[in-house]
Amino acid sequence: MKTSSGLSRREFFTKSTLGLIGGGFLGPISYTGEKSAEEDKLKIKEYRILGRTGFRVSDIGAGDFDDPAPFRGLLDAGVNYIDTSETYGQHGRKIAEVIKGRDRSSLFISSKLQADTSIRHIATAGIHKEGFLKRFYRVLDTLQTDYLDCLMISSPETVDDLFCKGFHEAAEQLKKDGKIRFVGVSHHGSQWFYRKPRMSMEDILLAAAEDGRFDVMLMAYNFLKEDRSEQILEVCDKKNIGTTLMKTTPIRSYNFMKEYYERKKARGKELSSEELKNIARMEKKMEKAQDFIKRYDLKSEQEIRDAAIKFVLSNPFVHTVCTTVLNFNDMRNFLKLSGSRLERRDKKLLSVYAQDCGEFYCRHACGICEPACPHEVPVNTIMRYDHYFSAQGREKHAMTQYAHLGSHSAENCTSCEGYCEKACPYGVPVQTLLSAAHQTLTFS
Ligand code: SF4
Ligand code: SF4
Repeated sequence: MKTSSGLSRREFFTKSTLGLIGGGFLGPISYTGEKSAEEDKLKIKEYRILGRTGFRVSDIGAGDFDDPAPFRGLLDAGVNYIDTSETYGQHGRKIAEVIKGRDRSSLFISSKLQADTSIRHIATAGIHKEGFLKRFYRVLDTLQTDYLDCLMISSPETVDDLFCKGFHEAAEQLKKDGKIRFVGVSHHGSQWFYRKPRMSMEDILLAAAEDGRFDVMLMAYNFLKEDRSEQILEVCDKKNIGTTLMKTTPIRSYNFMKEYYERKKARGKELSSEELKNIARMEKKMEKAQDFIKRYDLKSEQEIRDAAIKFVLSNPFVHTVCTTVLNFNDMRNFLKLSGSRLERRDKKLLSVYAQDCGEFYCRHACGICEPACPHEVPVNTIMRYDHYFSAQGREKHAMTQYAHLGSHSAENCTSCEGYCEKACPYGVPVQTLLSAAHQTLTFS
């Protein structure tokens, strides 16, 4: 069967530029490359004051990484904000290697502790002051540094968790002992599901801003998730709270759906009527977008990624953007964006991408559809794990986290009426995305 562009369905999937855009944006980033002499010239061009901390942070910050070499390149180029967490495993040891011998006072290092007792090691240590202190010193030991610039409480599920007595008592003690300088909170949506009445990222961060004890916030914000994240950023500006971002490039959509359908067919399984509708819907959008691709001479996914970063850097209330840097190409791309702002062409790219591929993005920190699920499947959390695997290349971490969901995994989704999908106000074909994520995260 031929589409109206004259390509067979399979050719359309593999040859259409927007198919590549919608899809190629998704796969694990697999660039290779070595640092060149030209890259030595790349430098951070803009520093911003991180709210009341008074610290001048680079607009591009360093988050997760795999290979220490490009991470070292970032620091050499002037990146001075480092985001880490007690849950990042060997990441901390690698940071220790890279910061060894550098002027510690030139770096702002932030780490996070969770307050969720359903996580085994946290339940073991306890969420009283001593438990937090024990975990904090473990982080400090891993990083091989004398102090942290900021200690954050990580993704509190409720305002009660945010104000966790043990965390704040520990933070007070650590400030007195000169082991931390500031306190922060990080949030990117629910960690799990209905063990407690769930609160949104926005409600929790706004409560944190009101409280007055939090100097820095790390949150999810991107061009497909503006509304209430921008409200938080404005409040932070008024209260002089430092703002750092994650989940800034929500560029994913189609390819993994296509692969999922193809795998399913290869196993001799029929596609459901909903899945066939999804394919038809996507084809229509791809065809509609061809004019735009030609007019703007769009060549690669990176152009949309770059525009997404420029979008957040253009917000004056944003201080630094935590990046995931897996290789030298990532390093080069992020450094080039330092000091940049959204231009007319970028705005157009993002607006067309939002229109044509935005519905394939399950919004970080959303969860609106979750109460509709009879099996208590944590939709948004699963899609975040899938993002770790597919977009950030953190495969082991994603699969380990997913394994903890047990009977609440997306295995439930294959024989379901898709209640969550019907409840999604953004039209995300989430049932298919969940089934595809289940395959990815379990190798099933
Ligand atoms: S599928 Fe839709 S409603 Fe559900 S979490 Fe994702 S974006 Fe939100
Ligand atoms: S597809 Fe069904 S089982 Fe899966 S999350 Fe949605 S409502 Fe729950």
